[in-house]
Amino acid sequence: MSQTAETEHRVSEVKPESLAWVERLVSIDTISRNPNLGLIETVRDELKKAGIEATITTDPRGGEWANLFATVPAHNGDTHGGIVLSGHTDVVPVDGQDWKSDPFKPEIRDDLLYGRGTCDMKGFIGATLTMLPQMQSMRLAKPIYFALSYDEEVSCAGAPLMIADLQKRGLKPDGCIVGEPTSMRPVIAHKGHQHVSMLRARLRGAFVADAQRPQRHRVRGTADLPHPRSGRRVPRARPL
Ligand SMILES: [Zn+2]
Repeated sequence: MSQTAETEHRVSEVKPESLAWVERLVSIDTISRNPNLGLIETVRDELKKAGIEATITTDPRGGEWANLFATVPAHNGDTHGGIVLSGHTDVVPVDGQDWKSDPFKPEIRDDLLYGRGTCDMKGFIGATLTMLPQMQSMRLAKPIYFALSYDEEVSCAGAPLMIADLQKRGLKPDGCIVGEPTSMRPVIAHKGHQHVSMLRARLRGAFVADAQRPQRHRVRGTADLPHPRSGRRVPRARPL
């Protein structure tokens, strides 16, 4: 996405360790069609050095695409509740685009960082990973989780696997911060996604928010949106 001047953040304002993390992540080509396992293993190994064992869930088509979920426990060891810091690790393609530098060799020009995914959303992932030492040194009242998914940009195949694994393990975080670029303005909830399979996932919680019409929407049992691949009809959100 493009940024306005007011939301641009200069590299000179960023912590050096944060910049190093972002550059490291951007250097790994994770265009959705390419495996992201290298990035996931990089993060897994760093978490392990900090004493945190991450859970990896891999794509059923093969082990080259993977999600990572890791818990920074509360000060009393509790791993219930708390906030998830969530980001997708894949990036959109660069084919045919007029890049002035290699999109996978992050480059600083005019105090700005250029590279595929610096904004969406390896910047967020790198910044949150940078905070790990502080998280571990604080008396956290509740846990903090890292949730990194694969294949968000194309088919949203990664996150559902990770969510299923959390359900299986009985983990119920209190909330989630998704570090998508929103011009530094918080967006509460999300009205959904045009892709019907994504809409299904979002509606499972019974309520969704509509950014244009802020009243709550409730799922009714009406089945009138066919799934684009299976043709199965799925519920559509309607105002209460
Ligand atoms: Zn994104």
